[in-house]
Amino acid sequence: MTKDAIITLPHPLLRQKSQRIGHIDAQTRQLAADMIEATLDWEASRKHEFGAALAAVQIASPYRMVVIRNDLDNKADKSFSVFINPEITKAIGEPTEELEGCLSVDGIYGSVARYPKVKIKAQNLSGQPVRLTVTGFLAKVFQHEIDHTNGVVFVDRVNDPAKLYRIGPSGRFEPVTGGLPAAAPSTKPPSGDASRSNSSP
Ligand SMILES: [Zn+2]
Repeated sequence: MTKDAIITLPHPLLRQKSQRIGHIDAQTRQLAADMIEATLDWEASRKHEFGAALAAVQIASPYRMVVIRNDLDNKADKSFSVFINPEITKAIGEPTEELEGCLSVDGIYGSVARYPKVKIKAQNLSGQPVRLTVTGFLAKVFQHEIDHTNGVVFVDRVNDPAKLYRIGPSGRFEPVTGGLPAAAPSTKPPSGDASRSNSSP
């Protein structure tokens, strides 16, 4: 499956709640493989961006499954973990704003408030229960992806247009609307399913 399978706004599926997966079978495993393949193909087409994760709805399969890169700091590691029916059981700490991007929102990044720590409950591809406590960038990626399973796209959480940026030809962030943004964008890698590559100039 190629990056062309990835749907982008304003596709209506992106604003729809995905269905729970009741039974894990060969089709479920194929869907996970397709999601990983599409994410890596997308990344291969982007000089300055990193494909960190994907929700099944982003390839027009509205089921509650997400795939997340095992190493969020290393583009060379192309392995992923699969989470079925993921949910946040507890959010901990004060939300902080950081830039994030999305494979379904072409080229746009926005400053979104997310919790620094979340507890996750899901199943793996073998149907076994998985419980995780995640922090930092990974916590933000989980919140972004679980939002997708609930029909929420990160731009829905950005209420100030001054907090939206696009990546310019040099790989730097530029404001989407005229004028300078109120605050300089964070230099930390953005979260979400698309993040800007650390190797960009
Ligand atoms: Zn996304």
